[in-house]
Amino acid sequence: MKTFEELGVAPEIRRAIEEMGYESPMPVQEEVIPYLLDEVRDVIALAQTGTGKTAAFGLPLLQKVDVKKNVPQALILAPTRELCLQIAGDLADYSKYIDNLRVLPVYGGSSIDSQIKTLRRGVQVIVATPGRLIDLINRRTVDLENIKYVVLDEADEMLNMGFTESIDEILSKVPDTRSMLLFSATMPNEIAKITKKYMREPKDITIGRKNEGSVNVKHMYYMVHAKDKYLALKRIADYNPSIYGIVFCRTRRETQEIADKLIQDGYSADSLHGDLSQSQRDYVMQKFRMHNIQLLIATDVAARGLDVDSLTHVINYGLPDDIESYNHRSGRTGRAGKTGISIAIAHVKEKGKIREIEKIMNKKFEAATVPSGDEICEKQLLSFADKIEKVKVNEDEIARLLPSIYRRLEWLEKEDIIKRVVSMEFNRLIDYYREADEIEAPSDRYNSRDDRGMSRNSRRGEDRFESRGNGGSRSAEKGYARLFINLGRMDNANPATLMGLINDFVPGKVRIGRIDLLPNFSFFEVPEGDAQRVISGLKGQEQNGRRISVEEAQGGAPAERREGSRRPSFGGSGGDRAPKRREGGNPSYGSGGDAGKREHRKGGRKPKFS
Ligand code: AMP
Repeated sequence: MKTFEELGVAPEIRRAIEEMGYESPMPVQEEVIPYLLDEVRDVIALAQTGTGKTAAFGLPLLQKVDVKKNVPQALILAPTRELCLQIAGDLADYSKYIDNLRVLPVYGGSSIDSQIKTLRRGVQVIVATPGRLIDLINRRTVDLENIKYVVLDEADEMLNMGFTESIDEILSKVPDTRSMLLFSATMPNEIAKITKKYMREPKDITIGRKNEGSVNVKHMYYMVHAKDKYLALKRIADYNPSIYGIVFCRTRRETQEIADKLIQDGYSADSLHGDLSQSQRDYVMQKFRMHNIQLLIATDVAARGLDVDSLTHVINYGLPDDIESYNHRSGRTGRAGKTGISIAIAHVKEKGKIREIEKIMNKKFEAATVPSGDEICEKQLLSFADKIEKVKVNEDEIARLLPSIYRRLEWLEKEDIIKRVVSMEFNRLIDYYREADEIEAPSDRYNSRDDRGMSRNSRRGEDRFESRGNGGSRSAEKGYARLFINLGRMDNANPATLMGLINDFVPGKVRIGRIDLLPNFSFFEVPEGDAQRVISGLKGQEQNGRRISVEEAQGGAPAERREGSRRPSFGGSGGDRAPKRREGGNPSYGSGGDAGKREHRKGGRKPKFS
């Protein structure tokens, strides 16, 4: 590997970047810097975000700019205000020891007058978003006649955002003799059109393989039913106590909804999207950069300019429509030599997209199962123990407070104290997950690529179900008949509902034995002598617009009922799959007075843990 000096970077720039901690060039810099320093020509660089491309084009440009001329010589176009500010900031840092070199960021949403004033004073480098630059061109306040270098950064994003015409217009105002550098994370056909139109014999530089995701990123997907996406997200966050990530949503509305729910449930989260004012967005980004929030719920566009190197996770709350966007999203993690995880919480219909992305990235996703409550609790406890081990103890400061605490707690053994501290922190979490139902995995036909034949969730659910007795295959109590009814918890059925129906439609008194409520159907037991009366009383009646069907259970729910259920069947390697309990479902589940409590538990705030 070469040094910056060997690449030809000037001493005053080296001094600045050394102060910034750049010890050796990153691969894109090693390729691009000597080439541009030698003779600036057209370059197309396929480089992911975070590969060091700003310095790759920035250092040679800054070195080549003539500071004696007080006119714009380099123009960098970026899709968003945030990226524009980021690049301008980096260039200002790199050039801090070059006297009289001035860089101006030009972007919408801030005073155009002050930008015009600075332009009048003279700058050599302009970093601009296309819209604002066109404004300035139309007001004849910017002179592009001496531009020698044009950089299109995140070119694919600029095209995605509809800047093609603006770019055409801007390039028509720049001398033909300029060199053009195009940086893009992906190379869709539209980019090829631009390069053909505006570039002359460009040098192609690819850092990493074409359209390949960052090598430091592990890709995982959790396949869940669409209705369980939010619960899966919460579990993923709970399973990763130190998570610091962006959750990408598809629309502004979804972004706000998810952020609101997470905040309500006690998570350290906030939203970032285009419906917020610029100052609100700045505030949220600032909070996120400072790690004051762990989860940023964002749209693709709003998050684009946010430059954070230390994201542990990128979460796709559903996959983007445009597969290229997945690359952009996942490229936000695994940066600057760190590793990262890109998670897709996908629903069954998105399976095909996963395969397409795999093909394009030439990388496999790992099929993961949503962590169980036990796994989450264990992970949280270990993380807590880790914090206890690592916490900084201010011996002097607490010394005078400790004796009274020692006196107060001296009757407790060490183990008791640990148990109590852990309970203080985790009782709510443990209670929450004890009560919470596992998230059912869709049929393993979709869900699992491994040889287990069934996802862990399915297995867990089945074990649990079998231990409670498998619906119809369980034999009835002596003297009782076991009946199947096509109402389940998905229909808001609870024991009180069943009793009510029997009271209303079955003549005479009926004793009701064991009731097993399942999501789509249920079983209940009545004395053998009453079975026919109950069946004929209930048959054909309606409950919430649904026709009731009852029959004697024979080794499980009748096949046609299962197939007819409104939710996907629970597949697996043969045999009946028991549907699993549902988490966070309709709060009116459960019997009578318990419903309120359940609602509180399930819809309530996330248990506090640090
Ligand atoms: P970029 O792709 O330009 O957004 O750069 C990604 C991150 O890498 C930024 O935080 C840069 O400051 C950092 N960076 C760029 N070049 C180097 C280098 N040679 N050594 C260390 N960090 C770098």
